[in-house]
Amino acid sequence: MAEIHLIGRAASPGLAIGPVTMLTAAVAKRTASDDPAQEAAALRAAIEGARAEIAEQIKTIQGEVADILEFQVAMLEDDALADPAYGVISEGIAADHAWRLALDVEIAGYRAAKDEYFRARAADIVDIRDRVLAHLSGVDTVPRITGGSIVAADDITPSAFLAADWSHGGAIALAAGSPSSHVAMLARARGAPMVVGLGPLSWNGQPPALALVDGDAGTVIFDPEPETRRLFEQRMAVANAAQAAADAGRLESARTAGGRRIAVLLNIAAPEDLAGLDPAICDGIGLVRTEFLFEASQGLPDEDAQYAVYRRILDWAEGRPVTIRTLDAGGDKPIAGLTIDDERNPFLGLRGIRLSLARPEVFRVQLRALCRAAVHGALKVMLPMIAVPSELDRASALLDAEFTALRAEGIACARPPLGIMVEVPAAALRAEAFGAAFYSIGSNDLTQYTMAAARDIGAVADLNDTGNPAVLALISQTVEAGRKRGVEVSLCGDAAADTRLTTALLATGLTILSVSPIAVARLKAAIAKVRS
Ligand code: PEP
Ligand code: MG
Repeated sequence: MAEIHLIGRAASPGLAIGPVTMLTAAVAKRTASDDPAQEAAALRAAIEGARAEIAEQIKTIQGEVADILEFQVAMLEDDALADPAYGVISEGIAADHAWRLALDVEIAGYRAAKDEYFRARAADIVDIRDRVLAHLSGVDTVPRITGGSIVAADDITPSAFLAADWSHGGAIALAAGSPSSHVAMLARARGAPMVVGLGPLSWNGQPPALALVDGDAGTVIFDPEPETRRLFEQRMAVANAAQAAADAGRLESARTAGGRRIAVLLNIAAPEDLAGLDPAICDGIGLVRTEFLFEASQGLPDEDAQYAVYRRILDWAEGRPVTIRTLDAGGDKPIAGLTIDDERNPFLGLRGIRLSLARPEVFRVQLRALCRAAVHGALKVMLPMIAVPSELDRASALLDAEFTALRAEGIACARPPLGIMVEVPAAALRAEAFGAAFYSIGSNDLTQYTMAAARDIGAVADLNDTGNPAVLALISQTVEAGRKRGVEVSLCGDAAADTRLTTALLATGLTILSVSPIAVARLKAAIAKVRS
């Protein structure tokens, strides 16, 4: 059989080889009653059973994974999801059919969404559908994935992913899917290579037995020829040796071959992301994305809840600097009840600092919690999506006011230094004009706004390139502004973890990079190879 080469989109880096497991949807049989009241009660019980099951699972896990499952709990608690099913049941349709009909409409709606963020949530709704069906039939239909296998499917649900053990290899090859899906986030966190958007996985006759997945290039080869396999295994051996060498140096501080000391900081979304990590792996925390706290909480988290989270992060850092970013909702991070629905172009809308200034009653709570947390460590606060100096000035005045109010109330507090993210070209071009205590370059947004190529649209992914000279020029200009003003400049976008860009980034004069914990070892190894 000839080998089959498919090209898709890289969703999680790394190389993997393994036997292919084709995932197909299992359908469980159920005997329905003829009584609509009984069927409605069965559906109610199944929804509650599914909700309770996920809530139990959340207690045993942390961080991003918990946030993903919280999303499913919130969906199941929303009556609007099941209302159409109850309507159909009252017309005499069995509970499982009614639920499937209702959810399939919902799934089709998500799949047809204009916004890739919402399209990427379709797998979560499939997950919810199947979990409730499993409760209705009493049969667990979550597919079992054997460790080390290459999962080939149309798409894969978070439950199916979480049910597998990824610690012994394995990878995911999807006909559909998205790099911004919850499963892609999970795959990156667990180190499982993943390629999406491969197109129809159809075979003439037997499905393939073996596959090679290249999560860096976004390609998959099914049933490779012996020579293709041998070359791939050689590449894997080199990559594994490099990773092992990098892991050995993860507690060392980063230095270029030319002797320049580079600070490596962490990007996190919640204190749970730090569980089990030795603070010695980093020089501090460069970005806490607080919007995930808001997303996961039922309603907006109050001052005490926020203070507790910020304090836990500062305690973990043991005196190292910690930069917490104020709420960056909107754009690709909508928050129910806070961000504006149906904005024509959310990336150019009321997001980040614009939303915080428009909703001062929400912003003030966060600023108070930050001032209280500031007494527990080296806290810095940064503002996302700053475009003009007046935004910084207004936020600074609000911070001063909350600090003064807390002091007047006799509550322990400190006024943290206030810096800005440089992610809008207007801010990079005029960085010197901002009275910021520091600059942190958000290369994800800076790249998409400079190149006019959205960060979540695969069709323009080649243009969304931080290595483009135009983006690098804006980074250099910001570094230069920081040097002139005597304030620190760091970079905390995904480009910091892209080791193909390390030399170019350090050539701009940057000396502080911030990346997710999983990327630290690889980045330090890449820094060590930079000559300057
Ligand atoms: C960025 O834009 O580079 C950044 C770090 O912010 P976020 O990815 O959260 O928008
Ligand atoms: Mg950003």
